[in-house]
Order: sequence, then structure tokens, then C-alpha cells
Amino acid sequence: MALVLSFHCGRCGKEYAVYYPKALVYPLYGQGTREQGAQEDAREAESGALRVLQERARQQGKTWVNAGEQQQVVCTCGKTLNLDLAQHPRVPQSRAGAARQVGLIPFGPAHRKPS
Ligand SMILES: [Zn+2]
Repeated sequence: MALVLSFHCGRCGKEYAVYYPKALVYPLYGQGTREQGAQEDAREAESGALRVLQERARQQGKTWVNAGEQQQVVCTCGKTLNLDLAQHPRVPQSRAGAARQVGLIPFGPAHRKPS
């Protein structure tokens, strides 16, 4: 199953469905190599499973983002959204650094002022 996480823009509330390819996830969580992940990504794309998820996200009004291609998106409101999986609280297996994050999805690096 492909890993797709929902992001909300902290400023305007726009929703994003962010797809994390296994080529990205596997090395990060030690589940395999990037190459093994890439093979499974290709299988999911071929089977059409990925297209189904993409279509579902679209029907829910979410913007589809491939985190394998971009780790950061600039929302239509101008806010920069950081999609770095290591900074996302809802990760499949939490890592040491993830514990300090509570509640809201941490959008945007800390150096951006909330004005
Ligand atoms: Zn926004």
C-alpha cells in the first residue's frame, strides 16, 4: 500500500494528499533500500493502485503532491509547506525525533514568522 498522508495548510486550510514513494520511505525507516522501494513503487504504479489513490484525493478536493519529486510546496496562499517525512508526526513508525511533535502537523520551518 502506498503511503499517502494528508496535509493542511496552516494558513488557508487547503488540503494536500502527499504521496511518499517507497524509494523515499524505505531508506528512511530501514525497511529496505531505495532500489527495493523503487521496485515496489513501479509495481504500484503499474497495477493502477497509485492512480486510484490519486483519483480519490482529487475527489476529496485535495491537491496531489509527489514527495519523491518535491519536498516542499508553496501553497496558493503563499505559505511554504514542508513535506519532509521525518518532520511529519503521523509516520508509520515513529522515530526518536518525532516524539517532540504534538498535535498539529508542523507546517513551515520555524524561521518563518507567523504574521
Ligand atoms: Zn495555504
